[in-house]
Amino acid sequence: MPTIDIDPYDASEGVFECLGCGTRTRAESHPGTCPECDGTVRNIAISRE
Ligand SMILES: [Zn+2]
Repeated sequence: MPTIDIDPYDASEGVFECLGCGTRTRAESHPGTCPECDGTVRNIAISRE
């Protein structure tokens, strides 16, 4: 396997950003709510189509 397979937007991991405070969290699944302010978070890793 080549060692250049480094993708920051790996499909198995999502990047979630809080709509309230802007905190970004990496997780394999949707965290549900922001760990900082308990606000709504969205997956920003798949929003660039
Ligand atoms: Zn927050």
